[in-house]
Amino acid sequence: MTYVYDFTEGSKDQKDLLGGKGANLAEMTNLGLPVPPGFTISTEACRAYLETGGMPDGLDDEVSAHLARLEDKMGKRLGDADDPLLVSVRSGAKFSMPGMMETVLNVGLNDRSVQGLAAKAGGDERFAYDSYRRLLQMFGSTVLGIEPHVFHEALDGLKEERGVKNDVDLTVDDLRELVTTYKTAIREHTGRDFPQEPREQLDMATRAVFDSWNTDRAVLYRRQERIPADLGTAVNICSMVFGNGGEDSGTGVAFTRDPASGSQGIYGDYLQNAQGEDVVAGIRNTVPLADLERIDKAAYDELLRTMQTLEEHYKDLCDIEFTVEHGKLWMLQTRVGKRTAEAAFRIACQLVDQDLIDADEAVRRVTGSQLAQLMFPRFDTEAERVKVAQGMNASPGAAVGKAVFDSNTAVEWSDRGEGVILVRRETNPDDLRGMVAARGILTSRGGKTSHAAVVARGMGRTCVCGADSLDVDVKAKRMTTADGSVIAEGDVISIDGTTGEVFAGEVPVVDSFVVRHFEGDEAAEGDELVGAVARLMDHADGRRRLGVRANADTPEDAARARRFGAEGIGLCRTEHMFLGDRKSLVEDLIVAESTEEQEAALSALLPMQRDDFHGILEAMDGLPVTIRLIDPPLHEFLPDYTDLSVQVALEDERGNRDSKHHKLLGAVKRLHEANPMLGLRGVRLGIVIPGLFAMQARAILEAASALIREGRDPQPEIMIPLVATVQELELVKVDIVRVASEVEDETGVKLKFKVGTMIELPRAVMAAGDIAEHAEFFSFGTNDLTQMTWGFSRDDVEASFFSTYLDKGIFGVSPFESLDVDGVGKLVRTAVEAGRAARPDLHLGVCGEHGGDPDSIHFFDEVGLDYVSCSPFRVPVARLEAGRSAAAGAVSDSA
Ligand code: PEP
Ligand code: MG
Repeated sequence: MTYVYDFTEGSKDQKDLLGGKGANLAEMTNLGLPVPPGFTISTEACRAYLETGGMPDGLDDEVSAHLARLEDKMGKRLGDADDPLLVSVRSGAKFSMPGMMETVLNVGLNDRSVQGLAAKAGGDERFAYDSYRRLLQMFGSTVLGIEPHVFHEALDGLKEERGVKNDVDLTVDDLRELVTTYKTAIREHTGRDFPQEPREQLDMATRAVFDSWNTDRAVLYRRQERIPADLGTAVNICSMVFGNGGEDSGTGVAFTRDPASGSQGIYGDYLQNAQGEDVVAGIRNTVPLADLERIDKAAYDELLRTMQTLEEHYKDLCDIEFTVEHGKLWMLQTRVGKRTAEAAFRIACQLVDQDLIDADEAVRRVTGSQLAQLMFPRFDTEAERVKVAQGMNASPGAAVGKAVFDSNTAVEWSDRGEGVILVRRETNPDDLRGMVAARGILTSRGGKTSHAAVVARGMGRTCVCGADSLDVDVKAKRMTTADGSVIAEGDVISIDGTTGEVFAGEVPVVDSFVVRHFEGDEAAEGDELVGAVARLMDHADGRRRLGVRANADTPEDAARARRFGAEGIGLCRTEHMFLGDRKSLVEDLIVAESTEEQEAALSALLPMQRDDFHGILEAMDGLPVTIRLIDPPLHEFLPDYTDLSVQVALEDERGNRDSKHHKLLGAVKRLHEANPMLGLRGVRLGIVIPGLFAMQARAILEAASALIREGRDPQPEIMIPLVATVQELELVKVDIVRVASEVEDETGVKLKFKVGTMIELPRAVMAAGDIAEHAEFFSFGTNDLTQMTWGFSRDDVEASFFSTYLDKGIFGVSPFESLDVDGVGKLVRTAVEAGRAARPDLHLGVCGEHGGDPDSIHFFDEVGLDYVSCSPFRVPVARLEAGRSAAAGAVSDSA
């Protein structure tokens, strides 16, 4: 096993093995750029160390051999008393984790070699002791685990004593004193002296870098960025060059383009007479990079040439760390730089215009989540903000409004022109009106697939859910934050659905031009960013195989989805049409005691449903509209048990013992289920309540028939939820086919429609072949499929124990958020294969929340679905990701 590689041996494509920093140091070395010689200990060594807790066999010898070669090349020995070779020891994982892991500079200095360093620097003792105190400080805090403030306080104290502002103003004697203070601090805090042996310093620093992979902050960062926990970091050991040797030296960072806006130019900071971390640590004020031209023209010109070489070579924005040592430029690091979402779109287009990349590559360089960031209004990050709680970022955007605690107030206040945020412990379908009226929704319970989250995303409404430090008292119309402050009805709050943050008061909001562009607002067209987005979207649309539909329940949402590029509706949840004014009709249906009463209730609902479907089919004229028959358990449409009991008790007191409330209470008791998610819902309802599905099918088909007569082209697809076995589907389908021929007879119009099913139960997957014999399409309901496969209640688990599961690395991201490819994904693949084997033209889609998740979209493309369906606001994101998936396929095809 080889664990150590010289910088001359690697390349930028070996990030897995050498980490990003090591791979790029090797690449720059091989490009002939001025990189100080060195070598990289691989991530494999780190993984072996983390697994066993000990350095892997053979590593020590390999390090010795590479060190000897480095010493020969440099003509110096590590830590030599007369002419010491010094090295830096830096972490570098595959994915950049800025500031998360450790770095130690000047390794090799000790009480003797510090003299040698001074002698070789023309007697510059100040420089030598400055380097030594830096080593003690970094080694003490990162390798020996002493709190950094111990060193900072000693330095600040000394500066104060001497009456100087900057560390460069300390004299050599001051620095000598500081070295003694630091060594004493190390002895006091660790019970041992600072190791004088250079090789021991090197080995301890290496081990500290490996250990830093698992610090709390690194773990948290990886989780946020979805970086796998088992990659490990490489360690780069690089001969030191010094930026702290006087005014003709210095250190800096540079970007080849502005990482915030993408504009080309010279961006960066420079600090004279300084080393490594000083620039980022903000110890002294840096100067703009352009000032280097005045300070040292030759070094500046060489830096610009090098930056151009790097941009052309990497064909991307690069960020760079460099040092100038007595006028000589040294490159210490480069990487493809992080950038804002806005810059990503701009830069990708600029690089195409410069002929550095093609359009496929440009589309691969931007992501759906970057597009999503550009689409949602956001808070002005410069503004002052008072954060009062942290919840889950359930539906992105920035919303400001007065806190209200019930739907009626939300509707009333918004009708009179006031912006409101609906605050609830959790929402239920009854809150829909309030959710529609509100600018944003905040709940203290529930996860990302809770009702509030799903509905909010569907409407493009900002939502923060599961902010469990808030004590929401709906009755008293107020909530209490963790620190005891009270936010009452009418108080203004601001919620950030992109970060999950909740703020007291009004935080200023900035508008999205990109959404205005998708909405067809011509005023947005001149904007450069909009131009870049439109260009890349066009290319993605041209490349993608996967269709994109929307989940929408109203004509307005359908129309918006269409403007956003949806090619149909993949899920219309009809239960959302049973709310509001119609609730009492649904209640009539539930409490009906005779067939006549039931039929009367259904007949009253029919014309309303027909109007609903007419509106949606009209908005999506010429495109498929998948309408799902009612899914949730009926008790969800009934009033709350406690409220109803109180009402009934009051009526009893007044002697009224036979009101509708009495019947409703009976129904609530009768329909109560311990596990409603596993109870009387979906197709089971259609089978148990005669006429219910037939009424919905009739409403759909009558609406389609009317539209055909109006010269339109409706394309309804009737979808049956929660099917487990083909018998269920057959029973319901017979009814639908009968209704269709009745409608055809009654209207004289020939109907064109499909009947299909959701696949959202593991049993349906196992029976997919049989089911496909009777279904013209499958739509994967991955919300329920995830719930039923893992046995996770989708309404509860995210807010309860998922944080522990994430902490323990059981999964890196909630399976409700991104498809669990290894489990649920295998079920999807199985059903696709079995379904297509039984019916080769079976049409396949997904309408669970995963249909709008970038990673999941790539999986659905790969597994061969025909389309994904997601909330209207995710439609552009899905179009882009489907295009990226196709463009990524083009790379692997040609590889
Ligand atoms: C699903 O289960 O994935 C689905 C789309 O249906 P619902 O979320 O309405 O249960
Ligand atoms: Mg479902």
